[in-house]
This record gives sequence, C-alpha cells and structure tokens, in this order.
Amino acid sequence: MLSARCGHTVPKDNVRVTFLGGLGEIGRNCLALEQDGRIVIVDAGLMFPEPTMYGVDIILPDFRWLIERRDRIDAIVLTHGHEDHTGALRYLVKDVNVPIYGSALTLGFARHRLTEAKVAHDLTFIEVTDGERRKIGPFDVEFIPVTHSVPSAHALAFHTKVGIIVHSGDFKLDLTPIDGRRTDISRLAAIGDLGVALLLCDSTNAEEPGFTASERSVGGALRRLFLERPERRMVVACFASHIHRVQQIINVAKEQNRKIALMGRSMESNVKLARKLHLLKVETSDFVDIEDVGKFAPGEVCVICTGSQGEPLAALSKLSRGDARNFKVGADDTVILSSHPIPGNEWSVGRVIDDLHRAGTEVIHSGNEPVHASGHARQGELRTFHQLVRPRNFVPVHGEYRHMVHHADLALSMGLADKHILICEDGDQVEVTTAGIRRAGQVPAGFHYIDGSAGDLDERPLEERRMLAEYGVLQISAGVDKENGTIIQPVRITARGWFEGENDRALIESVTKVVRDAIETALREGDRDPLSLNKAAQRTAGRLLGQKFRRQPVLLAAIVVL
Ligand SMILES: [Zn+2]
Ligand SMILES: [Zn+2]
Repeated sequence: MLSARCGHTVPKDNVRVTFLGGLGEIGRNCLALEQDGRIVIVDAGLMFPEPTMYGVDIILPDFRWLIERRDRIDAIVLTHGHEDHTGALRYLVKDVNVPIYGSALTLGFARHRLTEAKVAHDLTFIEVTDGERRKIGPFDVEFIPVTHSVPSAHALAFHTKVGIIVHSGDFKLDLTPIDGRRTDISRLAAIGDLGVALLLCDSTNAEEPGFTASERSVGGALRRLFLERPERRMVVACFASHIHRVQQIINVAKEQNRKIALMGRSMESNVKLARKLHLLKVETSDFVDIEDVGKFAPGEVCVICTGSQGEPLAALSKLSRGDARNFKVGADDTVILSSHPIPGNEWSVGRVIDDLHRAGTEVIHSGNEPVHASGHARQGELRTFHQLVRPRNFVPVHGEYRHMVHHADLALSMGLADKHILICEDGDQVEVTTAGIRRAGQVPAGFHYIDGSAGDLDERPLEERRMLAEYGVLQISAGVDKENGTIIQPVRITARGWFEGENDRALIESVTKVVRDAIETALREGDRDPLSLNKAAQRTAGRLLGQKFRRQPVLLAAIVVL
C-alpha cells in the first residue's frame, strides 16, 4: 500500500488520472487513465510557440512518464483530429507503439501526418463508429458523438469499477450542425443516470456567457457577403480541418455558379480525405486548378485557402505578400478570414490583413462580420452538459488557468460541493474512488520544445536566445603573454545587435579601455588563469554598460594565455 502512495501503482479500487498537458494552456492535450496497473492515453497534442520562443517550431508534452511505463500502456485514444490533440503523436509513437483508436476522419488526419513523418508503417489504427463501445485494456470505452469545429469528434465514457469517467473532448452543443450529426444529448443523460464518477470537460469558452453560435450561422453570413459581391473574386481562408466550413463555402460558391480552387497543401489533402469518407459533398467538376484561376473572370471563381492564422508559409501569407506562384490578389478580390486568431497569433494575422490591404484587396474577418463560429461550448452549453452528466466529481480540462477557474465556479454554481471539484495543472495526478476524488502526486510535465533543425531544446538555450534577441551580444578578445604578464594581442570588442555607427565608436573605445585596465591589473597581481581573466573582462565591461544603459548585452570573453 505504501508504494501506491508513492505513485508506483494504483490501489486496487481506484482509477488514477495523470494530466500531461492542456491544463493551463490551449494545446498539448494529453492525459493517462490507469486502472489495475494498465494505462490508456487520451490524445497526444502539440502546442504552437509564442513569438518570443525563438526558433521553437512546436511544443510537446513531456512524455518521459509514459515512456518509463510503456509496457503498461494498452492504447492511445483520440477524441478528434485537431493538432492540439494529435500533433505530438509522431513523437510519442517512436517510444510507445500501441494501437491508436479514433473515428475514421480523426485517424485519417493523424495517419496522414504520421505518414509524412515516416513513422506510420508499423502502427495499428482501429476505427470506431459513433456510439460504439470497445474493450480497451482494462477499460470499456464508449465513443459519444459531439459537435466541434472538425467533423466526427467524440466525447469518451470510460466505464470503470469506480463509475463512469466522462471526457467531453472538445465540443459545442450545435443543434443545427452541417452534417446533421448532433452531440448525443440523450446518451449523455443516460450515462448521467448510470452514475458518473468524474467529469473532465472542455474549458476553452468557460469565461463566455451564453451559447456558441451554430456553425450554420456562418453559412448565412458567407451567403450574404457573396451575394453582395457578384463581380468580385472571393478568397476564403479557414482551417483545413474545418470540413463543415469548407462545405459551406463550397455551397455558397456553387449557388453563384462559381468554380472552386483549393490552395494550400493541407487544404488539398484534407478535402481529398473528407470526400473519400463522404464527409464533404462536392463534384470533381466543381473544381478548377489553382493555376487556372486567372483564366476566369473574378466573379466566376472562389478560392479556398489555408493560412487563416497568419502562418508565414501558408497560402494566405504568400498571397498577402504577392509571393504566390499561381495568382495574385488585388483590387478585384475580397479576402475573407473565416477564423479567429488563436492566442499568440494576433500579430501575424494583423500583418497579413495589413499586407492584403496594401495590395488593394478588400478584407473581411471575424472582427467586422460574423464569418466565424467557435467550436467550443460557452457557459450555457457547459451548464447543460453538467446537468446531463451530473458528475460526482469534476476536473476542468482544456484551457488556460483562468478558463479552468471559471469552469470550476460554474460547477460550483450547479450545486457540486467544493471538495468534489479540483483545479489541476499539467503534471498533477488524481485518484478517483467510489467515495470521491483526491490529489495523488505529480509527474514531470513541463514544455518540451522542438526546434525543427536542432531537435530537442531545453529551457536554458531558449533563455539564451531570448537574451541574444533582446540585448545583442558583445565579444571581448585579447591575448596575454604568460611569462611577462603583458597584453600581446590587443583587446578587441565585437558587437552584434548592440552598437551601431559613429556615436558608438567612443563607447566601444571606453569599453576597450576599462577591459584593458582590468586585465592589466589582474596580470600585475600574478593572475594567468584564462577563466578568471575572462571573468574580470566580462565583469568590467558589464559594470560600465550597466551603469550607462541599465541593461547589458550577452557578454562573451575569449582571453587567450600564450
Ligand atoms: Zn483542442
Ligand atoms: Zn479541437
């Protein structure tokens, strides 16, 4: 029993949940459920870096805790196909090769990425259908359909010995979804009747009152905007995985007899997959090649492209800069950003919008027209979900810290007692029993930075990159004679990102002088150790610059003792 307290195994009548990402940030969603010594992973997502994380391409969950227990892992279950739930798979499966469960579309998206990364060959994918129940390891897992901004998303119900654990996945309660596949409210209510031991629920929009607009409302706005612009070429950017958005753009374009051109690699591949799975209704004859768009009058075509988040290499950014190979946008074009910037992307999106205006293009975005609807439930829907499921215990997931606090308050206001609600963060473990819920330990769950060219990146080099970016670098070099204790190669100062022009020449000279004095003093005192001479040079230069500017560049010293 003692070892259980230390977190090695879970006591017999408990289920343990280990949160590895997504609690405290939007992204990196990953958690592990454990019963009878066996583990099932739910989602393995990535997060996109902030602009100050220089050179970082993506951020992963810390998978060490899982890798150390790989022999006990039975499966990875995916709730839906978004990158913040599947984007880290290609790293995880190198160490943890277990069957991957999900809907056909979820697995299709995931498999495509894994194939691109050349790690898909010996993996097992197991497709599940809506409402299906599967024995996965020690768990009996039910896949409940939910509406979201990607089709075929699931909430999960784990039927366990302590009761049912419900994971909402990412969801909204859209009663008029494009494909008619609604969140299975009656099944959620039935599960609530059976007894839900723990609810883990999407907190993204927990700060927002009311209800999220139906995806269908976006179609109405697009139709109006298209009708008002029969002579203009319409270019609409959205997430390539948002198949229902793409469907609505196609529908509106077809109503106006426009031909459709796709732009962006992921848009082409996702549309192809969705058509194959009969999730997108469009004829091959409705499309024209992007290269042929120029052959049509502006009012005869509609371009659907990637890059709605301002990603610099995506189609819309290229269009905004006039860098696209196939055609250019100008005064005859209306560009619609059918999206909302993910936190951290506002600046890049703003720049793309500016550049499009510079090109003379009309730009419409969610700030001036209702051309986007969120995929996440607001407070009204969250209350409904809680009421349907009526959990004994609740942990908010999928959100920044404030979103989880608001979600916990909401659960409290629904009548759940304080002791049955836990606000957890990445790395926290909780144990669920028939009696309640308690914190059970912590595991490493920090950010795992990936630099595309250099591989793994620790916090330390990243901090150094931040310092270099903000303050520049100053290099001090000199050579001293060991015997005589004199400077034989003069002190030189080289700066990058700091000094510039004639005015700074005097400053460089004064830095050179104080450094030379400091080295000479040290040499007179008999110091011949390169390390301590380097330190003396850095300290002196640092002090002078600190006094003058109240900040310092990164100081590098290379004093050679010859
Ligand atoms: Zn998500
Ligand atoms: Zn999602």
